[in-house]
Amino acid sequence: MKPKKGRSDKKFQLSPDIRKRLTKRFPDTMVFDEPMSRHTSFRIGGPADIWAAPKTVDDLKRLLANFTGMEIPFMVIGKGTNLLVSESGIRGAAVSLSRLSGVIEKRDIGPGLAIVAAPSGMRLASLCSFALSEGLAGMNQVLGVPGSVGGAVRMNAGTNLGDIGMATDSVDVLLPGGDLKTFDRRSIRPGYRRLDIIDGDRPIRLDRSPVIRARFRLASGDRDALRALARGIVLKRKASQPLGVRSAGCIFRNPSSDQPAGRLIDQLGLKGKSFGDAQISTVHANFIVNRGDASASDILKLIGMVKEAVYNAFGITLETEVQIVGETS
Ligand SMILES: Cc1cc2nc3c(=O)[nH]c(=O)nc-3n(C[C@H](O)[C@H](O)[C@H](O)COP(=O)(O)OP(=O)(O)OC[C@H]3O[C@@H](n4cnc5c(N)ncnc54)[C@H](O)[C@@H]3O)c2cc1C
Repeated sequence: MKPKKGRSDKKFQLSPDIRKRLTKRFPDTMVFDEPMSRHTSFRIGGPADIWAAPKTVDDLKRLLANFTGMEIPFMVIGKGTNLLVSESGIRGAAVSLSRLSGVIEKRDIGPGLAIVAAPSGMRLASLCSFALSEGLAGMNQVLGVPGSVGGAVRMNAGTNLGDIGMATDSVDVLLPGGDLKTFDRRSIRPGYRRLDIIDGDRPIRLDRSPVIRARFRLASGDRDALRALARGIVLKRKASQPLGVRSAGCIFRNPSSDQPAGRLIDQLGLKGKSFGDAQISTVHANFIVNRGDASASDILKLIGMVKEAVYNAFGITLETEVQIVGETS
């Protein structure tokens, strides 16, 4: 089969000279040939030529300016909970925002209304806990979704209760020239597991422009009632999803709200089907789990088998929700 290009540049080669220059300029920020399996919830993925984890926005700016100047392709990573990285890994740089400093802040904006601002590298779970502890409602739709705040905003993470875009008030984005720009609700277009931001009449390319901070508009509620509701939501997730195992959440996008991909796969009796250590979860048919040592190819083969079976049975072409990165065959 012809190799397919994922989201890293297969032509790029990190020369010894660039390596030396980067090591000198960013001694504490980056490592080379870092296995991505250490940074994905699937625990799968070959090496990134460069793994960089800046601690401040200024460091990030300087880093991205250097990558651009040296023509090094890069991709931004949150907590790696929605990524399937190939065995060949990432050519160029994986830039993790999970060590970026920043604090969570709450600002009251009117009776019973507040804006909560969170740094993109923060765990989404921490933002949800903060909202609950402040007695603020509006984050239930992403309760229990793993990953970072930035990843959730970028993916417009959500559940059958809604998505994070419902609560998003504004986002700060680092533009390719190094300017930090805030986009408010008028410029933000949340879609199904995607976010578009429009700058004037131009769409922002979020793969070149990381989300640095996001603000959420939340309403006051009864703290105890909110906590009880949250407990119920989390318990339901625990009962219906394979949590605590190696996965990347739902593999496929739902073809429509009344035709969830998991139901179609379940109807075909595919739960438990495996290829190597990759297995269709026995708990939720839209999850593939890595039972130990699955490779990206094993997962992709299983994805291919499911797509074919669903197409043959229902005439529906499933599309992947998980982001596939690197060269695949
Ligand atoms: C057990 C499990 C359950 C899950 N359940 C759900 C669910 O119910 N609903 C749901 O929507 N998802 C779910 N997911 C998928 C995943 O958790 C979400 O998509 C999450 O929002 C991804 O966040 P992350 O930080 O891990 O992003 P990553 O996986 O690191 O990145 C995902 C994408 O976002 C981009 N990105 C990350 N951070 C930024 C940033 N700061 N700026 C710009 N781009 C960025 C990356 O380049 C990549 O394209 C689940 C995953 C697991 C493992």
